[in-house]
Amino acid sequence: MQRHRFVSLILFGLLAAAVPAADAQTSSQVTPDQVFDKVAQAEAELIERVRGLRPIVEAYIQETSPEVDGVQMPMVDSYFLGRLDWRDGPVMSLMADARRAEKSAGERRGFLPDGFAAMAAPDWKSIDRARYKYKLVRREFLGEVRAMVFDIEPKAGPEGGFSGRIWVEDRTFNIVRYNGVNRNVKGPRFRKKVYLHVDGWRVNSGSGQWLPAYVHCEEAGLEGQVKGQLVRSQVKLWGYNTTKADDQQQFTSIQFSESSVQDASGQGQLTPVASQRRWEQEAELNVIERLEKAGLLAPAGEVERVLDTVLNNLQATNDIALERPVRARVLLTSPLESFTVGHTLVLSRGFIDVLPDEASLAMALAHELSHVLLGHNLIDTKFAFADRMMIGDAELMRTIAMPRLAKEEAAADAKVVELLDRSPYKEKLASAGLFLRIVAERSKLLPELIQPHVGDHVIGKAGQSELMTRAPELKPADLTQVPALPIGARLVVDPWDGRLELLRSAAALPGSMREKMPLAITPLTPHLRYPGESAPPLQTRQLPLAAAPAPPVASVEVAPLVVPSLRDVELSLPQLGGAQVPALAPVPDLVLPPAPAVAPPNVQAVPQVVPAVDRCAVEGTDAACSR
Ligand SMILES: [Zn+2]
Repeated sequence: MQRHRFVSLILFGLLAAAVPAADAQTSSQVTPDQVFDKVAQAEAELIERVRGLRPIVEAYIQETSPEVDGVQMPMVDSYFLGRLDWRDGPVMSLMADARRAEKSAGERRGFLPDGFAAMAAPDWKSIDRARYKYKLVRREFLGEVRAMVFDIEPKAGPEGGFSGRIWVEDRTFNIVRYNGVNRNVKGPRFRKKVYLHVDGWRVNSGSGQWLPAYVHCEEAGLEGQVKGQLVRSQVKLWGYNTTKADDQQQFTSIQFSESSVQDASGQGQLTPVASQRRWEQEAELNVIERLEKAGLLAPAGEVERVLDTVLNNLQATNDIALERPVRARVLLTSPLESFTVGHTLVLSRGFIDVLPDEASLAMALAHELSHVLLGHNLIDTKFAFADRMMIGDAELMRTIAMPRLAKEEAAADAKVVELLDRSPYKEKLASAGLFLRIVAERSKLLPELIQPHVGDHVIGKAGQSELMTRAPELKPADLTQVPALPIGARLVVDPWDGRLELLRSAAALPGSMREKMPLAITPLTPHLRYPGESAPPLQTRQLPLAAAPAPPVASVEVAPLVVPSLRDVELSLPQLGGAQVPALAPVPDLVLPPAPAVAPPNVQAVPQVVPAVDRCAVEGTDAACSR
């Protein structure tokens, strides 16, 4: 009895210290139970928010080989893309194939999409004192966020809910990370009654609220798996702001701005050629706008500027003058692919994520640029009719899909080599060739990752580019050869609006075979911070600024994030004969760091291991507490 009281006092001391200074006057009354009640309330509110916002959920799953020489290679993969919906519990409304008759490849392998949607919270029922036992373990920092760490267990036994650890930030008492397993979700995630362990993260996003953003899960010894095989998956959530765009309210606040309503032409009837170009441009705008609205296309920003710089450099060194400039945008999904929507060149986030360096990025962009230069059909003009885009998000990807002829792909691949040979990247093409080699090698094993859902196959239809034949052999045991990065290594997505940030430390050289994981799922650690509080993550460096006058790439329009109002009718007309070759712009460095000279470390004092565990709070014994 006395011991129990003592433990509570210690807990109380810990908690009082955890409350921020602004709340200092109230902290003296806070008991552990009251803190846990606040956690319960914040979590209930978060779940209500997620249910209302219906974010996009993407699950990508890899099953690995048993370990050979310390390496587990991904052998089979599955993929789900949908929206988080609520039918008596969290479910995933699949986006890729809404009216499908057959099960997807992932379902045939025994995975259930609803199970992955359910991973976005530790427990969709309440996490409160009525259902849970809790124990405060310690305090620690996650990124820039101070968190209290609790171990929780369902009172009804392991089958009653989530067992594991939760990290609670100490300002608004939101759960920001959870790590464990919930054995009480509606559907299992894998075949029968097997539940996968999850490590889930919430990110404080553009909305100023904590939102589920990323879940890593890993399991061995599942039914149907060989001993030593591992199932790894990552679940990503974003597009929380997009459901609002579907509301009727967009029509309640139409504003006419005097200057922009007028058609930009104003010079009488257009020539047939100019009309045709305008028609294609209108189709392009319709598709881009629809993809943005669905939350599938990232708003243009820092990353797009990097892509545009590379595009610019390809054009400048090849003396290319286009009537209308090309721009790059990013599709937010993981499968590796690229395509054109008119003069907008789209690369998927997953594609950019795994590219080892700038030369391979140039190769990816050069491929789509080649389609433009070769006069291939860049967009289906049926999309110039407004009704063609009045479709649900679920049908969107399939509707805009535009497979190309093998003949066109081969011509583009040949053009790529020509463009790159005259570019600033010509000395570094070995890495681009190596990337193509690893993708070709893995594309049979990982068809869900390396298969276009909308556009072009990464290695083309022929599967054998000249860049590959020029590249050296793949050397799996060579740690200095990095043909492709692990999945999710480069881009950080803001879950609220899909805004992208570049993680420039992505291309760290692996230290061991175990760390060399091209195209494999690895755990990711989001950098947690409160919005508007500090500089961007430490990994991000400033882009080298272009020398004045700014090159064309500096004028990328950032798409406005407001709920769509009436679009300004301002389709710029092609200026016949007015095209100019862009100037070469400074290139941001995306290169691999040089191999570090490895020297044996000097003997040093053992650094303090953080954070120290409060033995008293953990063990609760007299011996532990009396120290
Ligand atoms: Zn192509």
